[in-house]
Amino acid sequence: MRNKIIIAIDGHSSCGKSTFAKAIAARLGYIFIDTGAMYRAVTLYALENGAITSGMVDEQRVCDMLDDIDIDFRFNPQRGASDIYVNGDLVEGKIRTIEVSNCVSAVSSFGAVRQKLVAMQQQMGHKGGVVMDGRDIGTVVFPDAELKIYMTADAMVRAERRFKELTQKGDNVTLEEVYENVVSRDKADMSRAISPLRKADDAIVLDNSHMSVEEQMAWFDAEFQRVTSK
Ligand code: C5P
Repeated sequence: MRNKIIIAIDGHSSCGKSTFAKAIAARLGYIFIDTGAMYRAVTLYALENGAITSGMVDEQRVCDMLDDIDIDFRFNPQRGASDIYVNGDLVEGKIRTIEVSNCVSAVSSFGAVRQKLVAMQQQMGHKGGVVMDGRDIGTVVFPDAELKIYMTADAMVRAERRFKELTQKGDNVTLEEVYENVVSRDKADMSRAISPLRKADDAIVLDNSHMSVEEQMAWFDAEFQRVTSK
């Protein structure tokens, strides 16, 4: 076992994967990579550059744009995590709107989009010492990751958490709209042809519907201990 391992976290939408991954990374001194932010950044660019109109995503136009999209992460000490930039512009605050959420599963189903982002993710994580969260990390990006976690929670619990987050930021959304988005994204992510969301055979399941952050961290500590002491 090498010193710094790869921790892959996959699972359903809005079940707190990024919060959990970020906390783990801070605890271990690992790098946290939010791959959902990368798919959201491509979606935002497509929205802002005419490849999505009235919610309809034009696959050809999105794929033609890929070479013009330069994504990078820069560490933000205030957040204790990296912010995402597209072509040098900070987009962290713009990628989690309901508009982006409603189109991101379509954009992320395109083979060319996945090819570009998966290659970047493999490049960023190959040395280990990373906690990467997404939908295909343990199955496609790092199938040999030493610790794989598959996270889930009750759909209404997830919608309520995301609704609270969005309304606290001042977004004008309803709980029904958020619930609908969470459920339809899961369905799209699990049924797409390329790299669908599924639990890797060797992943361990964490259902955090009724768990506090502290309980999740205690659960993680035990699993990390089990894997690294082998
Ligand atoms: O993690 P988050 O909910 O921000 O991800 C947004 C969307 O990006 C997901 O619903 C999914 O469609 C896509 N995604 C993906 N593969 C990943 C990460 C995210 O397809 N590794």
